[in-house]
Amino acid sequence: MDAKSQLKKWVEEGRSIVFFGGAGVSTESNIPDFRSADGLYNQQYKYPPETIISHSFYLREPEEFFRFYRNKMLYLDAKPNKAHLALASLEKAGKLKAVITQNIDGLHQAAGSREVLELHGSVHRNTCSRCGKFYDAAFVKNADGVPKCECGGTVKPDVVLYEECLDTKVMQKAVQYIEHADVLIVGGTSLTVYPAAGLIEYYTGSRLVLINKSATPMDSRADLIITEPIGEALGMFLNEEDLEAMR
Ligand SMILES: [Zn+2]
Repeated sequence: MDAKSQLKKWVEEGRSIVFFGGAGVSTESNIPDFRSADGLYNQQYKYPPETIISHSFYLREPEEFFRFYRNKMLYLDAKPNKAHLALASLEKAGKLKAVITQNIDGLHQAAGSREVLELHGSVHRNTCSRCGKFYDAAFVKNADGVPKCECGGTVKPDVVLYEECLDTKVMQKAVQYIEHADVLIVGGTSLTVYPAAGLIEYYTGSRLVLINKSATPMDSRADLIITEPIGEALGMFLNEEDLEAMR
């Protein structure tokens, strides 16, 4: 049986499937991984992304932080792709219990997924650091320089920066879902960014599926490896309604 037929069979049999995804899930929606330094990047910024997207840098040089954030992390016109839609369909069908994501773009929810655990937060939630007032992503996108609340406080995106802790409750929930999963599908992540690799250790089943274009440190642990683009690999789970919505 080829790898995709095997995945299809496991998904048909699965009752508690969990998906864990990274930046590669959104690249097919034209959202580049902000960690991948391109030529343009090197001309535009004096520091590596890990420095700019850190808590201390955010406090020290907020203007530069928000310049990077708007250019490299906010893609408000992006649309869900086949992978997002297929996962939402599997949840509706009662097969998939949760999506755990390292992405901050909200595309799983835009596709219709309900149980989405965002390990690194979301660009769609922004709050004033002084009074706690909520602002949407468009407000941050359209603000000049550092986005300011009407009270004068800085509006901070609810995105986990380097040097900041992950939300404990979200992490605990992710661990629970993974522990109870019968099939764990991991896609679009090189499994090198914390806490991805550690989380997968909680899976004790024998149906760990890795969908990634290149090799990962977890390949030897996987029960099935698919090297196709993730939209192609999961595309077989789209239903007629999804395909109609994509036209
Ligand atoms: Zn305020």
